[in-house]
Amino acid sequence: MTLEKLLDQVQDKHIILQPRGDCIGTWAPNTCIPLTTRRAIWKHKSELLHRIAQSDIRTCPSRDLHRQYYRYAGQGRFVCGMCALLEKEVTRL
Ligand SMILES: [Zn+2]
Repeated sequence: MTLEKLLDQVQDKHIILQPRGDCIGTWAPNTCIPLTTRRAIWKHKSELLHRIAQSDIRTCPSRDLHRQYYRYAGQGRFVCGMCALLEKEVTRL
């Protein structure tokens, strides 16, 4: 599975990707994450971790609710301000 197809699935299924060291945990209430998707997350974990750290909108699990917090970060990149805020709160716990 390509990274782009994986990112489409992450957003379609509202999968929350949680960095755990150099691995990625997943949380998707009321949704079964297919094995092929889990394998793709493992395969692309380095790129996903980089995008999560950048709060890239492609790893945002809630496009509809967070869209108002999207902003242009330059060089063709868009970031989600809400995901950035939530990431800081989660890492403080
Ligand atoms: Zn977001």
